[in-house]
Amino acid sequence: MPPLFTRYPRLVERCPYRPLGDWPTPVEPLPLLAERLGVGRLFAKRDDISGRPYGGNKVRKLEFLLGDALQRGVRTILTFGRAGSNHALATAVYARAAELKTISMLLPQPNAHCVQRNLLWSLLVDAELHQQANTPVLVADAVYQFVRSWLRQGRPPMIIAPGGSSPVGTLGYVNAAFELQEQISAGLLPEPDVIYVTAGTMGTAAGLILGLKLAGLQSRVIAVRVAEEAYANEKGMVQLLNRTINHLHRLDDTCPRLNLTRGDFELRHHFYGGEYGRFTPECISAVSLMKETCDLRLEGTYTGKTFAALIDDANRGALADKVVLFWHTANSQPAPAEISTADYRQLPRAFHPYFEQPVQELDNEGK
Ligand SMILES: *Cc1c(COP(=O)(O)O)cnc(C)c1O
Repeated sequence: MPPLFTRYPRLVERCPYRPLGDWPTPVEPLPLLAERLGVGRLFAKRDDISGRPYGGNKVRKLEFLLGDALQRGVRTILTFGRAGSNHALATAVYARAAELKTISMLLPQPNAHCVQRNLLWSLLVDAELHQQANTPVLVADAVYQFVRSWLRQGRPPMIIAPGGSSPVGTLGYVNAAFELQEQISAGLLPEPDVIYVTAGTMGTAAGLILGLKLAGLQSRVIAVRVAEEAYANEKGMVQLLNRTINHLHRLDDTCPRLNLTRGDFELRHHFYGGEYGRFTPECISAVSLMKETCDLRLEGTYTGKTFAALIDDANRGALADKVVLFWHTANSQPAPAEISTADYRQLPRAFHPYFEQPVQELDNEGK
């Protein structure tokens, strides 16, 4: 049973949930890296191996989102992301395992090996992919695909928000905070002073901030922004926190209506680098340092930028006597072998340039 349900037992009946992952994810001490960076004590929360065949942070959200979809009896999910979206892929992988179809509405992004891999992997799990050049055209196409799917199947698809960051998806990370609390109680790590986590659509960070508060933990969340400020900003975070609290309170009114404000978290804007999915030099060297020292695989869009923020704080001496937890949100399960023989020309034409044009400079993946 998810630790959130142990704490609020009414949720067992009232909150749809479909188990997908391998829980709890391990907490791994990183003493060599701590010494090298001048951090008191450093740990990684290994959500990169949260599920099979695909890990990363989207698995926790999908346990609640797909639970909801199955309870509603829908047949198709319609969701949004960028061309290399981990969210769109994770949704397609786990929806198909539940015999649901996924339609992904995607915007362009800078080319990278991970974009190619995620597109081919999506093809293998029969996702229907569409790319449009900008948001207004994508939304118009999404309306068209929504109606088309409805007419074809006799019932409307369920829409999952970008990144799965609705109040329902965010419960995945409220639950994660209670999982961490159990690991602290079991003596696997001391209560962290600070937790570094990536903020894209912010559901991961918001769930943690709220869950830590509910669990009575004092750890401070530093959320590192990697998406446009229009998607990831303080006002949006406070809104998502409040919408999620209200949702939880509706499900179980013994859950207190906390009032969370901007002072309850820190959103770091400096490491974004001006474009989603654009690899920055600090990010690439952070990825290499993690690989060399701990043999953990980060990537350039999310976790590399987040770890770069941690390194920067360590370099300024801010973490010398702190217990620090780095929340690893990227998948590190291997891609299926069939990807190497998949033919990108089976994808819609809009995606072919990702396979015909070079990947961006600094893309060290696979080297
Ligand atoms: C989606 C994603 C994130 C961001 O999570 P949000 O909840 O959207 O903020 C972080 N890391 C990785 C690897 C992701 O795929």
